[in-house]
Amino acid sequence: MMLHTYIYSGTHGQLEPTERRKTFYANVGSLIALSTLLVVTLSNLFTGSEVMRQVVYVQAPFAVLFMMTAWMNHRGWRNTARWNLMLSCHLVVLIPIITPLGNSLLSQIYFLLIAVISVTFFHAKQRLSILFLFSLNMGMFLYVEAGHIPAVAEMGMLDIEDVYALRFGNVVTAIAAYMAYVWMIEVVAEHSERELELQAVTDALTQLPNRRYFDLAFQQEVAKVSRKESVMVLAMLDIDHFKNINDSYGHDVGDQVLRHIALLLRTSTRAGNVIARVGGEEFSVLFPATTLIEAQEAAERIRETIENAAYQYQGESLKLTVSIGLAEVAKNQLAPQSYKLADEALYAAKHMGRNRVVAFEA
Ligand code: GH3
Ligand code: MG
Ligand code: MG
Repeated sequence: MMLHTYIYSGTHGQLEPTERRKTFYANVGSLIALSTLLVVTLSNLFTGSEVMRQVVYVQAPFAVLFMMTAWMNHRGWRNTARWNLMLSCHLVVLIPIITPLGNSLLSQIYFLLIAVISVTFFHAKQRLSILFLFSLNMGMFLYVEAGHIPAVAEMGMLDIEDVYALRFGNVVTAIAAYMAYVWMIEVVAEHSERELELQAVTDALTQLPNRRYFDLAFQQEVAKVSRKESVMVLAMLDIDHFKNINDSYGHDVGDQVLRHIALLLRTSTRAGNVIARVGGEEFSVLFPATTLIEAQEAAERIRETIENAAYQYQGESLKLTVSIGLAEVAKNQLAPQSYKLADEALYAAKHMGRNRVVAFEA
């Protein structure tokens, strides 16, 4: 739970999706930095060497700076948070290198890690920031690797076995940290993709699936009809005299009525049925594996439910009715044909006086 709050710090509100994702990344990155620091600290202490203990003393306080990334994101200082994380990572790596161990422990490998990870924190268009951090970290790696920063402490203070173990540990930890980071940001990216996909097929006012979703569902179901020789029915539902509601009570009340109808539709249909808001005050229902007679009964129940559940507005009961047109969907029928047929049935229902169900065979 706390972990969840930490990772999601500063990602709420009206952020655009990419910025939200990048903010996640910075929080996740700071967690990876924290864990890496913990592993390195423990292995340094494990050697029992005085030199390594001193390194730990100087490095440990950086844990606070790492955690401040999430706090900064929480405050809305998202760009500052990124730079805080990148630069504090950079400094924390520099510590064992400038003094006292030089490049003998391969700590410079973390510069490579920061160089590749920094790309993910910024928007693709922030080329200068990305280029700067990449050059800074690659530069430091090459500089240290070339032996320009020699050890000032006597390496004799550290057993040669410990030196090898720490080198090995640094390489493994850096690669593991990279993997863990990439894995975690992939989880976050997949999650945010799913959210966007869902948004793209959901109607914002009623939270019902929208026309786009309905068209896809229709295509899928009609394919099943053709394979299994089964039957299905398409229903088009339109609120009667809805314009009067808008004209008499205002557009906002009209919107509330649309939500009210959407809720009634949800509760009066079966789980396998597909419901969608396909137009202003028009809804569609797909009844898969259903005969025209069965669908007619179901549509009649929907019509009655809506008729009997007047919308209560400021002590007034707004009576609502709907007209429903049903079309049997035949094998290999194309969507436009079925929609047209259901539309014709709906038109007939309106013409016959509204508040009724009319069904057409394929
Ligand atoms: P009929 O019984 O013939 O269907 O009459 P009607 O008044 O319902 O039909 P018409 O198509 O003339 O009017 C539909 C109205 O629905 C027109 C439009 O202002 C309103 N409308 C469409 N979308 C929305 C919406 O999202 N919110 C609100 N409040 N009104 C909407
Ligand atoms: Mg209409
Ligand atoms: Mg209408």
